[in-house]
Amino acid sequence: MNHVPHVLVVAGSDSSGGAGIVRDIETLAAFGVKASVAITAVTVQTHKGVEHIDAVPPDRVAQQMRAALSANPIAAIKIGMLATAETIAAVATVLADNPGIPVVLDPVLVSTSGRTLLAPAATAALRDLFTACTLITPNLPELSVLAASMVATSPGSVGDQARSLLRVGAKAVLVKGGHAGGVEAIDLLFQPDQIDRSFASPRLAAAMRGTGCMLASAIAARLAFGDPLAAAIAQAKAFVHGKFRET
Ligand code: PLP
Repeated sequence: MNHVPHVLVVAGSDSSGGAGIVRDIETLAAFGVKASVAITAVTVQTHKGVEHIDAVPPDRVAQQMRAALSANPIAAIKIGMLATAETIAAVATVLADNPGIPVVLDPVLVSTSGRTLLAPAATAALRDLFTACTLITPNLPELSVLAASMVATSPGSVGDQARSLLRVGAKAVLVKGGHAGGVEAIDLLFQPDQIDRSFASPRLAAAMRGTGCMLASAIAARLAFGDPLAAAIAQAKAFVHGKFRET
């Protein structure tokens, strides 16, 4: 008998270990969750930049997901870098065949160093994936691309952009405030027909890579244990804040 939940991570590798699947697995381990993986892209990276990207063939991504789902009782799925529209379509097919599993989508578009991690033409395909996901976790620049708007500079425009994602099928949008200013890093949760919620932690001066991967994986880990969404987000946010304090 195995009572430890499994999370399936669908994401890219980062040779530096600063982001991607290494961060995901570290995070899941910290939450006492087992990881299964479907690698979407192999990237050659240092902490300064992305030198090369090999996208894994879309069919192979889907095969990895199906194998992981048949090998283990997957209690949540975390999706990170998807690289191409074709991979998004392959992932969508597997998700459609496996309804009922919570899915956290970190819409990875561009690295902090400026390298494109999702083909710009694939943005529309990514929006089509929203209906299959429990939660989308964009930062402010990602939100603006997904909402086809300028980067939001006021709480009102953040809300407008997030609600535009709800209108195209997102079930919940957590906008990460890491790219904003202020003494607190405030993440905002938007859901249809529900009061908006905020999750704040003191903003620390430290810089750390892979925070988006960590937050989404931590949320997936807590969802795998059966936490309600807001409780999972609160725990995940506290975890990432703790990692900042360690840097
Ligand atoms: N590489 C991979 C495989 C990623 O998934 C991500 C982000 O999710 C990045 C690089 C970018 O990370 P950062 O912006 O922290 O450098």
